[in-house]
Amino acid sequence: MSNKKGGKLIVFSAPSGSGKTTIVRHLLAQPELNLEFSVSAASRAPRGEEKDGQDYYFLSLEDFKQNIKDDNFLEWEEVYRDNFYGTLKTEVERIWALGKNVIFDIDVVGGLRIKRKFPERTLAVFVKPPSVDELKIRLKKRKTESEEKINMRIAKASVEMATAPSFDHIILNDTLEHALEEAEKLVATHISKPIIGEVDLNQ
Ligand code: 5GP
Repeated sequence: MSNKKGGKLIVFSAPSGSGKTTIVRHLLAQPELNLEFSVSAASRAPRGEEKDGQDYYFLSLEDFKQNIKDDNFLEWEEVYRDNFYGTLKTEVERIWALGKNVIFDIDVVGGLRIKRKFPERTLAVFVKPPSVDELKIRLKKRKTESEEKINMRIAKASVEMATAPSFDHIILNDTLEHALEEAEKLVATHISKPIIGEVDLNQ
């Protein structure tokens, strides 16, 4: 790896519909935080306006499984049945080579896995929606998925909520303004800390 010292890792995880993507976008727009979005690989088809290499690296199920075999992922997860998502090691290398910190918008299991692997350099934040009912309303408003898919995501949300205490911080997204402010402060504090030692993404 060109930059063995690397940068910081910042994980935002939450049930889908909790508003974490809005928070992550806001953080990316703050130049002083020096963040770059980690584009995950996914085995699902693009939705709506999603673009390959921008929202996800869209891989076939077969290609995804080959990358697992080749040990190319920092973490991966079968988030929904036959829908695999994962972070390629090359993505983190790419961002660190730019001299930037990596921000992840990923599932709770993947997020905690990164935290466990790199405890010092990772800030893991859980974004909590005000309630499961509110989550349902937000997902329906999004109008990108079928009723069945929405129900699947709601069922998963309760399981995900139970993992919140394992994160470094929980942000309650009741008013967006407060959530954005809190997120900015947490990230700024984390990136101001010095990096100790080198990193091995293959650990
Ligand atoms: P969606 O299909 O709505 O884009 O994402 C579904 C779920 O997959 C979300 O909870 C999202 O956070 C998660 N996800 C996206 N990328 C990754 C990844 O690289 N690793 C893991 N473990 N989960 C991911």
